[in-house]
Amino acid sequence: MKIKRVFIANRGEIAVRVVRACKALGIESVVAVSIADQDSLAARLADRAVCIGPPRVGESYLNQNALLAAALGTNCDAIHPGYGFLAENPKFVKACEENRIIFVGPSSESVQKMGNKLEAREIAKANGVPVVPGSPRIGRYEEAIEVAEQIGFPILFKAAAGGGGRGIRIVHEPGELEGAFQSASAEAQAAFGDSTLYVERYIVSARHIEIQVFGDKTGNVIHLGERDCSMQRRYQKIIEEAPAAMVPDQTRGKIREAAVALVKGISYENAGTCEFIYDEERDEFYFLEMNARIQVEHPVTEAITGVDLVQLQLRVAGGEAIPYKQSDIKFQGHAIECRINAESPQRSFHPSPGRITLWRPPETEGIRLDTHCYQGYLVPPFYDSLLAKLIVYGKDRSDALERTKVALGQFRIEGIETNTGFLAFLINDQAFESGRYNTRWVEGNIDRFLPV
Ligand code: ADP
Ligand code: ADP
Ligand code: MG
Repeated sequence: MKIKRVFIANRGEIAVRVVRACKALGIESVVAVSIADQDSLAARLADRAVCIGPPRVGESYLNQNALLAAALGTNCDAIHPGYGFLAENPKFVKACEENRIIFVGPSSESVQKMGNKLEAREIAKANGVPVVPGSPRIGRYEEAIEVAEQIGFPILFKAAAGGGGRGIRIVHEPGELEGAFQSASAEAQAAFGDSTLYVERYIVSARHIEIQVFGDKTGNVIHLGERDCSMQRRYQKIIEEAPAAMVPDQTRGKIREAAVALVKGISYENAGTCEFIYDEERDEFYFLEMNARIQVEHPVTEAITGVDLVQLQLRVAGGEAIPYKQSDIKFQGHAIECRINAESPQRSFHPSPGRITLWRPPETEGIRLDTHCYQGYLVPPFYDSLLAKLIVYGKDRSDALERTKVALGQFRIEGIETNTGFLAFLINDQAFESGRYNTRWVEGNIDRFLPV
């Protein structure tokens, strides 16, 4: 039941990425575009583009009826959701199932289970995977007092429906509980339409380690190693790398095994990522959440394994078995990804849309650039500020790092503000070089990078 025509329900670099994977497999592609994206690179590269509505995401990329109608109307037999938007929306996945159109991703049941972090925590526990000490649903901030006393400050309030770093607040002492609770639940309500919160112990010296997993209909589950995404600002990733250099080999093996056990436990199909917090001081790891989709940072894994994850998604969604056993997956070299955003570091990272008047990417060795941008492109103000992902491969970490420094230094973008200078500061810092940093490092050092 090979897929013949894919409808891409997304925009930006990931829409371009999916078009390219389709071309490589001889699959036709139809890309959904809002009015603001009608002349996008994805629209030009795809076999066809269909306008699904006005620029605002509620009327376009989140408009389930418009997307489904366009997919069915163009005789597509599958929908690739990319990441963000409807990628992890169980109602949308269910609607695809009911309309007999293949959703390139897991079943609606898996998406439903993993979309709620409280439920995902229970599933992890049931499969023998450690979770961060925490609480069930917290209805009023007073309920958190007792939990906090048990697990100890600092704690985090986290949104059960959360994603993209939203709905997370740190609490250092009882006096901060009420304010943090209110603002986290308000943000969660606004972002996800669900204000449910829970508590986790805040791991002070944490690294974000995640495992790329893949499952198929035959029950084969493999992992494709880990990524370290500890370079973060406001709980959002900025730079990612694979493999994770700072985790002891024995622990690395255990985290990979835990991810596979969890995914097998729920008969998961297609690509997914199990995210973990690694507590450096205790050499312990805890499950955070599972992202039931392709991730932004998937190319670093592709670079070190040689597996094209988006092509594999399409093949497995079309009914094929994963053509690898675990032992077929070999890791070679090191890869680093920098997220290049249209934003102004000097102005609190405020988005900076507008016309790109000069776009000159680096052309040094070992580079891959995933982007939808080009010289003359107008970055619309309505969407995520991601412009490009610069992925650099090297034979080892220091080789990849040196190449990244050169590549970032050569990247010229004019007309809009970007974070390339900020990224260069991070990459060139001794902490990144030595690998000795944690998820709080960027924020703790931000004043050094942002001269006032
Ligand atoms: P990754 O783990 O793949 O790097 P991110 O957490 O950075 O993913 O999110 C990828 C994209 O999806 C971002 O644009 C983010 O804003 C968006 N996103 C993540 N989760 C959600 C969600 N639950 N609802 C809407 N958008 C989301
Ligand atoms: P999201 O769905 O928004 O991606 P996550 O649960 O994956 O939320 O957390 C995002 C980031 O927040 C993590 O990568 C990590 O840096 C930080 N974080 C989350 N939970 C904890 C925790 N218990 N202790 C320390 N840091 C945490
Ligand atoms: Mg996460």
